[in-house]
Amino acid sequence: MLENKSTTRTELSELGEFKLIEHLKQFVKLSQSSTIKGIGDDAAVIKNELETTLASTDLLLEKIHFDLSYFPLKHLGYKAAVVNFSDLLAMNVKPRQLTVGLAVSNRFSLEAVEEIYAGLLLACERYNVDLVGGDTSGSQTGLCLAVTAIGQAQESDIVYRDGAKEHDLICLSGDLGSAYAGLLLLEREKAEFLANPDMQPDLQGHDYVLERQLKPEARYDILDLLKEKNIKPTAMIDISDGLASELLHICRESKVGCMLYESKIPIDPTACSTLEIFNILPTVAALNGGEDYELLFTIPQSDYDKIKGSHDITVIGHIVDENSGCMLVPDNGAMIPLKAQGLE
Ligand code: ADP
Ligand code: MG
Repeated sequence: MLENKSTTRTELSELGEFKLIEHLKQFVKLSQSSTIKGIGDDAAVIKNELETTLASTDLLLEKIHFDLSYFPLKHLGYKAAVVNFSDLLAMNVKPRQLTVGLAVSNRFSLEAVEEIYAGLLLACERYNVDLVGGDTSGSQTGLCLAVTAIGQAQESDIVYRDGAKEHDLICLSGDLGSAYAGLLLLEREKAEFLANPDMQPDLQGHDYVLERQLKPEARYDILDLLKEKNIKPTAMIDISDGLASELLHICRESKVGCMLYESKIPIDPTACSTLEIFNILPTVAALNGGEDYELLFTIPQSDYDKIKGSHDITVIGHIVDENSGCMLVPDNGAMIPLKAQGLE
């Protein structure tokens, strides 16, 4: 995973806000031609040729969205960037710029902030995104990160949630339930550590699910694949809150129903074995677990031949008319209305 970390501690109060920004700026490199001005003026400047701009923000608060007792700061920075990239990718648009709002209490040192930025900048480098600005403040309540991803695209390429049509195929990238399995493990280790601080963590053999929780990736590659196959999805969303909730969003916005086949939902075998430890049915984790950041999209049936054989895309159901409702079809065949029930 991402390696850590320095041992010295420099107090943020030694630098102050402006020196901190200057310090962080030295690590930032710009590569997008649309970035005219990054950090250093009152606003970033981004040049659009004949394109349309998209922006998406996520707010991450300590103890609400992340727990630093098991979430390394570099991973936090990486994840904060990636989950924003995922939101733009879910519109069929590649992110190009990122801004970062940061509030830190004096519990955090300069080195801690550097770790967060190392993660943010690693994600920016991997996804070819420029970190172009932000805001910095002290905090009385721990750490807060507000990240905004910005992208530009031809308007005709943008995919919304509301375009799914009756008979469309429901497609999913990758597999589901693993990030939730990883979270369960980390929470268990934390509880055991609090009860007995001498205990060594027992996370062996769970690399995949831990990586899915601590270092998720956004499906940039799926956009390339769709483009290569000349497919424009009719609707698309990323899976941040679990398959049930996201599919219901598409159906509600598109005014359609769906048939989702339980046996088709892809779940990694190692996630199944982790979930078994916690007595959680894999389907339940896939439907309600969240944080997998896979792409859920609908395509016309006529495009089926184009995706057939793509090992990383699975057809998990189809769209029906609104009156037929949103249904989960379990292996035994009896239909159940699909419900969004957050786990946690
Ligand atoms: P202002 O007072 O106008 O808000 P700042 O001093 O906060 O200006 O910011 C100066 C520059 O530094 C701006 O370009 C801003 O986008 C950038 N900046 C401030 N905080 C951060 C941060 N945490 N990460 C990246 N850029 C930042
Ligand atoms: Mg400011």
